[in-house]
Amino acid sequence: MQCLYCHCDDCQRVHGGAYLPAAMYLTSQTSIVAGDPILWKLRTTERATCRSCGTRLFAEPPGFGVRSITASLLPEGVFRPAFHMQCQHAVRPIQDDLPHFKQFPAIFGGSDEKMLW
Ligand SMILES: [Zn+2]
Repeated sequence: MQCLYCHCDDCQRVHGGAYLPAAMYLTSQTSIVAGDPILWKLRTTERATCRSCGTRLFAEPPGFGVRSITASLLPEGVFRPAFHMQCQHAVRPIQDDLPHFKQFPAIFGGSDEKMLW
């Protein structure tokens, strides 16, 4: 599991915020235990929304075999972010001690290129 902040313009639009705190699990490590979420796409990433309350539950970026779970849904203490990604879309520079990847880190098939802010 990898905890991160995603600044992609999809997450910004879908969640109505500057970035999304999320935890990436292998899809096989997760399951839907209650309800019947609405599955939909803004562009390419399939997303799940709770049919009852509208909460954005998770996303499945194509080609990675992972499910990105919205961090606010995790038990307290589980979300421990390791990096920011897709910072090329960041609304503002972020000042913290984590790496700020311009696109994706190498562990997700990216270049590991970092922002120069
Ligand atoms: Zn994103």
